[in-house]
Amino acid sequence: MAYFDNNSTTKPGAEVREAYDQASRESWRNPSSPCRSGVAVRVQLDRARESIARLLEVDEESVTFTSGSTEANNAVFAHAARCFEPSARALVSSIEHPSVLAPADHWFAKRVQAVPVEPTGVIDLERISALLDGDSEIRLVSLMAANNETGVLQPWRKLADLCRERGIHFHCDATLWIGKLSSFGLSACSSFSASAHKLGGPKGVGILVSDLARPFVLGGSQENGRRSGTENYPAVKAMSVACELMSSRLPEFSDRSCWRDTFEKAMFAGFPGLQILGKEAPRLWNTSMLLMPDYENLRYVGKLDKLGFEVSTGSACSTGTDDPSSVALAMGFSPEQAKRLVRVSAYAEQTEEDWRNLAAAFSHARDELDEDSQGSSVISL
Ligand code: PMP
Repeated sequence: MAYFDNNSTTKPGAEVREAYDQASRESWRNPSSPCRSGVAVRVQLDRARESIARLLEVDEESVTFTSGSTEANNAVFAHAARCFEPSARALVSSIEHPSVLAPADHWFAKRVQAVPVEPTGVIDLERISALLDGDSEIRLVSLMAANNETGVLQPWRKLADLCRERGIHFHCDATLWIGKLSSFGLSACSSFSASAHKLGGPKGVGILVSDLARPFVLGGSQENGRRSGTENYPAVKAMSVACELMSSRLPEFSDRSCWRDTFEKAMFAGFPGLQILGKEAPRLWNTSMLLMPDYENLRYVGKLDKLGFEVSTGSACSTGTDDPSSVALAMGFSPEQAKRLVRVSAYAEQTEEDWRNLAAAFSHARDELDEDSQGSSVISL
């Protein structure tokens, strides 16, 4: 199978699996245990923290291991709601992941404002700047670095500066960015989140980088007292190996958008009426969100799967619901159009040839769908 659903999760490579296995075999003791082997795991855990902090150019004290970005994003909003005064307001972009939108709504309710994006999928920085200037109660702003559905990149570095100048907490969901583009500038965010499984690491582990003053999981005081619970060292070790590997490959990734662009060119040629969400904006090199001119997305997904290509209809977090993509709606597309969205997302292992073959497979899938619909109209006659 050619796997083109990397924005939902990525395959852990051999080195990452080996790091996990080895840590499970040899370093399974509790890092809080006072025996020598426990202390050794504590040292290894701190080394993994140091390594991740170095790659992200942040202070290791600010790195808290979490179960992933969902937990990290939740923690920031819960923390802000407890620490800021009751009148404090929050701004989020309308294209944030549900793990930002839901806690924003839960903790801030009427005190949160979702800022719309332009039809290109990018937030309007001037508009946000005006909002920040006009409302001194805004204490928290959250903007993702790269959108998981369209790959559209957001001006998070500039927004981090605007917030810092005004003493506002700026949170960045960097889940799709880290491991694909340079982490330069992330240290300017008041907090940011990432999940290991989006960059070749294991599932169920991630980071929150922040100097949150109060604990967000109470109990045994692990993780500098911020997040209690026995640390999952094997997962952390595997995550640090994945981070090292992907960081070393960033220069190679910087040339990869041309593979995606060639794919999109072939798609435009073969599918008159095709649209690509966020095409006019800077995007991640790995993502293409296609608005197919014909047929519902699940029919394409099914056909392509049979042809050996795994693609997606959009965010895995909304699969299984009938809700149209909120990102597409925020960009001005209709619910009917949202049903024709197919997302393809590559990562480290997909080759130029895979991209080329994918375009050919789409044409093949469409031909089969045409045949199916002609067949069904003959039967209905
Ligand atoms: N933010 C973004 C942008 C994501 O794509 C995801 C995963 N779909 C998350 C947060 C949540 O990550 P996890 O499910 O690993 O907690």
